[in-house]
Amino acid sequence: MPVIYEGAVQDLIDEFGELPGIGPKTAQRLAFHVLSSDSAAVERLVDALHAVKARVRFCEQCGNIAEDTLCAVCKDPRRDASVICVVEEPKDVVAIERTQEYRGLYHVLGGAIDPINGVGPDDLRVRELLTRLGSGNVVEVILATDPNVVGEATAAYLTRMLRTLEVPVSRLASGLPVGADLEYADEVTLGRAFEGRRRVE
Ligand code: ZN
Repeated sequence: MPVIYEGAVQDLIDEFGELPGIGPKTAQRLAFHVLSSDSAAVERLVDALHAVKARVRFCEQCGNIAEDTLCAVCKDPRRDASVICVVEEPKDVVAIERTQEYRGLYHVLGGAIDPINGVGPDDLRVRELLTRLGSGNVVEVILATDPNVVGEATAAYLTRMLRTLEVPVSRLASGLPVGADLEYADEVTLGRAFEGRRRVE
């Protein structure tokens, strides 16, 4: 983006412009919103940004966003610890929780296998998944990676890896919008995909 404004305003526009989904016009609008906001509102925004970096971490068990060593799902004794749903990102956990169809635990990979962008299995929490499954208490693994090329490739890779562990593996039923992110599926569609999941092997 060309530099139009001076100093601090342009710096802020540049920072907003780095955010995902924010184009130059939106970056400019956000910067001017901050400029016209009162100091207290700006302080709250700054505090929220600091707090998210200071307080939020990743669940030691599943990799979901947490404010403690374990996330809210892993800490909940009512959850069924014998089923693990594997997803790419914490936002996928939120999407699945919204369906209210799933009572098991999660495993967040932290992305998908994407050789073109240099992401291999070692860059994801695959080893942690195998360690979890090694405990022998899991009766089903549900692969809920995104229904796009890298998501499918990741599911295929995990299916091969998990074959040796003799844990039943299932994949969400088709019907999800192909090529999209899990988070964009509506609750009903995602809920049905869970119900209609099929064993893979
Ligand atoms: Zn967790």
